[in-house]
Amino acid sequence: MSAPSFFDIREIKKSNKNDTSNFYVGFFFDGTGTAITRPTKSVTHVSNNIEDLLLRPSTSWDCDYSSHRKHLWTTQKSPQPVETRSKKKAALNFLVLFIALFELHYKIKKRMVKMLFDTHVHLNARQFAEDREETIQRARDAGVKYMVVVGFDHETIPLAIEIAEQNENIYAAVGWHPVDAIDMTDKELEWIEELSAHPKVVAIGEMGLDYHWDKSPKDVQKKVFRQQIALAKKVNMPIIIHNREATEDIITILQEEKAEEIGGIMHCYNDSARYVQTCLDMNFYISLGGPVTFKNAPLPKEVAKQVPLDRLLIETDAPFLAPHPYRGKRNEPAYVARVAEDIAALRDMDVDEIGKITTENAKRFFKIK
Ligand SMILES: [Zn+2]
Ligand SMILES: [Zn+2]
Repeated sequence: MSAPSFFDIREIKKSNKNDTSNFYVGFFFDGTGTAITRPTKSVTHVSNNIEDLLLRPSTSWDCDYSSHRKHLWTTQKSPQPVETRSKKKAALNFLVLFIALFELHYKIKKRMVKMLFDTHVHLNARQFAEDREETIQRARDAGVKYMVVVGFDHETIPLAIEIAEQNENIYAAVGWHPVDAIDMTDKELEWIEELSAHPKVVAIGEMGLDYHWDKSPKDVQKKVFRQQIALAKKVNMPIIIHNREATEDIITILQEEKAEEIGGIMHCYNDSARYVQTCLDMNFYISLGGPVTFKNAPLPKEVAKQVPLDRLLIETDAPFLAPHPYRGKRNEPAYVARVAEDIAALRDMDVDEIGKITTENAKRFFKIK
């Protein structure tokens, strides 16, 4: 191509979104092309179509635009072969990927909380039958040093004990779930009493009232609840309370049965903060789980801010109630870190501090050395 003569150079502010620099656009008399350069004085492309030019990434040709304005195009080097360009692009992509991975790694590392205690997890649920060991390992990797596996029926109680026996720093709680209260006889009560002597059993529960499901009538639930509180007092162990839509009845029964003598945990506390003080007065701890991370759940957030730090516990209740952003998926003990993070944010504290305090509280509560 013969050297085109240069007649006009204009600054065009239009650019791609991320580029605040101006483009310098040259037009030619002979109509062989239109060139575009950046202030760095490197031409980016030659074309007849200015719109096309503005869309192209800058590459390729060096030229001294300031001193050789008129010879801008005659001194161009030819564009690099496509092969070289794609190699360069691949190298660039690799670099970008490497940086992204490094950043991700750093974020994960930064996120790992030093020490956590998941005070309520159902590793004995059939949802973990396939990958229980991997689940425990993921929890360990996330900083979860201690866990209490809660058993609540014929199937889950023996498994809770088995898991506790096989794993260091994993303990068990045994009780009868209120939903199945109708199935509990004296035989089950005696069985729970026997198991309470096991060295890895640290609490009686979960027990309580669940008015959401109607498998067991309320009066049966209340009777079974009272029987288990009496049992816990007899063996001198704290209790774990399951409460669904039954806060006032639960408080009444706990007060009437003098549960303050043994103390307990309001597991996955999800009611108004106005009941918190009553629970504290009965020697109870408040345990918060996944719902504290839900955007549309103001109650547990309010509770998270108000509970005295020395009575606060955290849990997952996995495989249920996965925290944000895992909501609706299978929950697992590693995610207790998410609960700690959101409580830390709500209280304007460091997540490691929340992890440490709640771990100390749980160890004190369950009498774990
Ligand atoms: Zn429960
Ligand atoms: Zn549970």
